[in-house]
Amino acid sequence: MTQLAGGSAVTPRPAGARANRRSAGRAIAVTGGAGFIGSHLCEALVGAGHAVSCLDNFQTGRRANVEFLEASGKFTLCEHDVVEPWPGGLPRFDEIYHLACPASPAHYQADRVKTALTCALGTLNTLRRAQRDGAVLVHASTSEVYGDPEVHPQIESYFGNVNSVGPRSCYDEGKRFAETLATDFGRQKGVLVRMARIFNTFGPRMQANDGRVVSNFIVQALQGADITIYGAGDQTRSFCFVDDMVEGLRRLMEGGEAVVGPVNMGSPVETTIGELARIVIDMTGSRSRIVHRPLPIDDPRRRRPDISKAQASLGWRPQISLRDGLARTIAYFEREIGGEGAKIGGRVPASATPARASAEIRP
Ligand code: NAD
Ligand code: UDP
Repeated sequence: MTQLAGGSAVTPRPAGARANRRSAGRAIAVTGGAGFIGSHLCEALVGAGHAVSCLDNFQTGRRANVEFLEASGKFTLCEHDVVEPWPGGLPRFDEIYHLACPASPAHYQADRVKTALTCALGTLNTLRRAQRDGAVLVHASTSEVYGDPEVHPQIESYFGNVNSVGPRSCYDEGKRFAETLATDFGRQKGVLVRMARIFNTFGPRMQANDGRVVSNFIVQALQGADITIYGAGDQTRSFCFVDDMVEGLRRLMEGGEAVVGPVNMGSPVETTIGELARIVIDMTGSRSRIVHRPLPIDDPRRRRPDISKAQASLGWRPQISLRDGLARTIAYFEREIGGEGAKIGGRVPASATPARASAEIRP
């Protein structure tokens, strides 16, 4: 028996049943595969020679993020809402990555009931499919399970400080419930489940209107628009480039039987939001001014993962610095919002207008 972070126990599969394997030719499903992280994951898995099926309802993802993979002959794009039982006609899967869920506060708060149901029913349906196929499941959880943390940096054994009835609760509590369900379903039904608690991740293929801070600041800087810091800007986040995150998720899938319970994945380098704004202005050469807007309710004040578990059990830690990751992301958005002509002061499509999270804000 192996102890979980929270103290409960699970019985691992027999040793060697799921050995470390990065060999090609496995059948893999990625829910939410047309989204930001999911599309990079699909690309990496197809590149490694696997047959990948992406299930996505395109709520926040885009066909364009993954359509180009179809030319490989190894990629299938399936429009499906994971709140519903999985559709027929799919192969038996060896592995399932479960990422389907909007991640930006602006988007997950737009339809909070739907977000809660995606976390609950979407995870249940995906677990059922993993059980049916005998697949290993990697579940994309989040640093939001720690809420506005009173323990810093956050370690997996910390239970968190979460409001169950606030504007972020559909996501925070939804993801907490999904962790519970995945853990108990795995234990009771014999499904091998791994959980990544993903911390703020950024990179190309974020949407210009995503509403998260990195995309907002870059788009605003490239447009020469005001850079909107919510609150004083002394709140912190720790930003991980998407390539590092994809590598971490793959290592988690391939990890041995010893990787039990949630694993923090993110950058251990903490940055204030004010500092991030200054770096983006510096790197884009923008003339944008910084303006302050009210801090949304329940906005976490500090966030940084303790990644010692990922380091020890997976040999994983991020390799790409914040500035290197931002350089690649800025180059992406320069192309995305219209190329050089759309840089500072230029014309940009309406979809490139940064979104704003909940209207419920502290006065
Ligand atoms: P994203 O919004 O870009 O991608 C989510 C994808 O899931 C989209 O393609 C969307 O269309 C799809 N989706 C949403 N609801 C669905 C449903 N009911 N059925 C089918 N598809 C659905 O977000 P992302 O940043 O790529 O995040 C991916 C996962 O990682 C999410 O589960 C998120 O909670 C988790 N995560 C991300 C971050 C981050 O910083 N990016 C941090 C913590 C956790
Ligand atoms: N934020 C900000 N300006 C923006 C968007 C976000 O100051 O235009 C802040 C937000 O209030 C939070 C931090 O940046 O403190 C990270 O926000 P994001 O929505 O990217 O992610 P999350 O809050 O889920 O970590």
